[in-house]
Amino acid sequence: MFKLVIIPLSLSLALLTGCSTSPKKAAPHKIKKVTHQRFQSVSKEQAILVQKGKEREYCHVCGMKLVKFYKTNHAAKEDGVQHQYCSIHCLAKDIKEGAQLENPQVVDVNSLKFIPVTEAYYVVGSKKPATMSRVSKYAFKSLDDAKAFQSKYGGKIVDFYSAWQIAKKDFK
Ligand SMILES: [Zn+2]
Repeated sequence: MFKLVIIPLSLSLALLTGCSTSPKKAAPHKIKKVTHQRFQSVSKEQAILVQKGKEREYCHVCGMKLVKFYKTNHAAKEDGVQHQYCSIHCLAKDIKEGAQLENPQVVDVNSLKFIPVTEAYYVVGSKKPATMSRVSKYAFKSLDDAKAFQSKYGGKIVDFYSAWQIAKKDFK
């Protein structure tokens, strides 16, 4: 009876020491996996580009690559032409400079689809990086998603109008 207990114990110890040496092979692979991609970035396949023409991949205002900052992208129509912006900063800049924009939209961080800004919950001032601003602004279609993001990364939840007012402070 006593021996029966001892044998499985020594067997499992042998297994444990065996295990502790074998995963070393996997370590270099893990290091390779680290990327330097921005939080805002997505792959080309994930991004929706609403603009036309050869400048379609770039922000209408600042010319930055839209895919690189996709999670803060906005879009709107001017005289029937679709524009896409890297951020609410560039949208606000366009409005400030006199653009008459219709149907403003924003990317929902979770689904990566455009939604009307009027339906979005913005998390402003989280720890995640900001685009063209010192204060980050990320939009969500679902209030629960916004709350989950806020509980992880901080910030406050506001509507588009408030986020826009905060974005306008960049120009003062
Ligand atoms: Zn821009």
